Amino acid sequence: MLILDGKIASAAVKAELLKENQSLKAAGKRTPHLAAILVGNSGASETYVASKVKNCEETGFDSSLIRFDDQVTESELLSKIKELNLNPTIDGILVQLPLPKHIDDEKIIEAIDPNKDVDGFHPMNIGRMVQGLDTFIPATPYGVLLMLEYFNIPTKGKHAVVVGRSNIVGRPMSILLSSEHPQGNAHVTLCHRHTPKAALDLIVKQADILVVAVGIPEFIKADIIKPGAVIIDVGITRVPDETAKKGFRIKGDVTYEEVSKVASAITPVPGGVGLMTIAGLLKNTMKAYKGHYYHN
Ligand code: NAD
Repeated sequence: MLILDGKIASAAVKAELLKENQSLKAAGKRTPHLAAILVGNSGASETYVASKVKNCEETGFDSSLIRFDDQVTESELLSKIKELNLNPTIDGILVQLPLPKHIDDEKIIEAIDPNKDVDGFHPMNIGRMVQGLDTFIPATPYGVLLMLEYFNIPTKGKHAVVVGRSNIVGRPMSILLSSEHPQGNAHVTLCHRHTPKAALDLIVKQADILVVAVGIPEFIKADIIKPGAVIIDVGITRVPDETAKKGFRIKGDVTYEEVSKVASAITPVPGGVGLMTIAGLLKNTMKAYKGHYYHN
């Protein structure tokens, strides 16, 4: 059984990017700059953004962390995004989700210049992705593709099952796995909250490649895994645990211990897709630095 170790695969991606940034510096050029906006102080969002900024530093990118408290108004956020859009030294902009309830996520995402949308959430970039055009692929599905590439996991002609249809993970993942490219060409079934449990079990049992992005800890059990399947567990949930130092443990959407006995390959949680998401984000930031798709 192969552990799809995100530390190893993301280190390979980051080493390439570091080399590129070192060459830029040696040539006297500026390096790509990622601006991250964080609203409020939710523990999970703090951790994700801190990790993104730290990875930028380690890989030779410039980064700025822009903080707002959770009382920030939508128009204050929009004007900060406008300022970053117009700043020629900022290449990538990300707004850490979720945002407080009084702010419309869609409005914020659509305000980001699609040329700087390194999370790949802007409808224009999603449109390009659906049509198979070169674009910013949403960072988490991009990370999964990079993982499949690194570990040479064949996808062509395989049955890939994606559980979860969110705009940031499940839906783009299902489109990418079915698209015409080296980590695509799978035939894909997408399941979601309205897939009856009995149907879901039957479908998951047929999966050569299973991607789970549901957010329910240990939702997928070993008895519905096809022997030899490749398992990509996107789920990250903090489960309270008094015996843990931080008072919680991170759980994936798959029961790792049991499923790893049936699968041929599996991503650990933590240490799997989360690290690849950052690799995808950094690759998108380098792409944004190199050129624009849209011209005003
Ligand atoms: P979401 O809540 O937006 O979407 C969850 C999806 O699961 C929905 O599409 C829903 O239809 C589906 N679902 C819910 N109950 C179901 C059921 N009983 N059967 C089948 N489908 C069901 O979540 P999301 O943003 O896609 O995130 C999913 C998980 O992935 C979360 O744990 C999140 O923390 C994690 N995540 C991890 C990364 C990473 O980098 N590893 C990135 C983004 C999200």
